[in-house]
Amino acid sequence: MTAFTDANPGQTFTLTGSVEEGFDTLHGVPTTTLGENADHLMALGHLTDRAVLAVTNAYHRRVWGQRILPCSQLADLTRLGTKRIGIKVTKESDDYAWHFDYADRDDPTAQAATIIDIEWLCHEDIAVQSECPTCNRSSRSTNHTTGPGRTGWGHYHHCRYCDHKWPTAPARLPNLTKHRRRELPRPDGCFACFCVPEYSCTARCTIQYNPLIGQRLCATCRNQLPDDVWRQLAAVAYGTATTFDDLDDQRDRWLYSEALRGIPPTQATQTWQHRLTLTALRADLPPQSTSV
Ligand SMILES: [Zn+2]
Ligand SMILES: [Zn+2]
Ligand SMILES: [Zn+2]
Repeated sequence: MTAFTDANPGQTFTLTGSVEEGFDTLHGVPTTTLGENADHLMALGHLTDRAVLAVTNAYHRRVWGQRILPCSQLADLTRLGTKRIGIKVTKESDDYAWHFDYADRDDPTAQAATIIDIEWLCHEDIAVQSECPTCNRSSRSTNHTTGPGRTGWGHYHHCRYCDHKWPTAPARLPNLTKHRRRELPRPDGCFACFCVPEYSCTARCTIQYNPLIGQRLCATCRNQLPDDVWRQLAAVAYGTATTFDDLDDQRDRWLYSEALRGIPPTQATQTWQHRLTLTALRADLPPQSTSV
């Protein structure tokens, strides 16, 4: 076996699964990701079906903090999403770079590898425990999805007992949310939802500057809550986050989803603070890291 570092550019060599080659050891198997979007895993050797599932699970847990959910793509992973192939690996000019080509089936010098297509697997984030505000049962996972009020996607818990959705109280360390950029709402659109003049959220929805909150708000959003609640939301600084801060966004989502089920915004600001503190405790963070 040729050591990776001894290979010259253009020379074929055998991957050893070392860190320098970009491999991680998952479930005892040297594995790396392929493609710019890391939508495939490549493990060295021909894996058993069991090992394919174990490696895929370990990758999502370790690298992304995610749990794979049962879905048809998972059911088909070992049958349709896995290829056991032979590869020829070539060193590139850069010290750590290499590429591979598929080898002929009967090539005795080929190296065995397993390619796993992970692009369409469904997963949820592993999160700090949080209690459902309506039924008090706990959840330890979130999905990155849209919720009532506010433009853009956020991390939400979903109660599997009562179906309620509530936003995650972010924990600062370890970072449980992957860094994603929030989409800017259009200046002529509703600041809270995706409603814009030529593509309104409901037929004939209208968008107007709303002095109650100092933002443009569409009729649908405005009609979801009584004026008095909008006034209270404005009073607790709903929707005034100036930085693209996960914490502020999630707070707004919490205030809005609580308002929708009749919880006064002043009370919701207190329960949010309590949730931040509790999340910090559960994540074992120093308390100051949750200060707003
Ligand atoms: Zn519930
Ligand atoms: Zn709206
Ligand atoms: Zn609208």
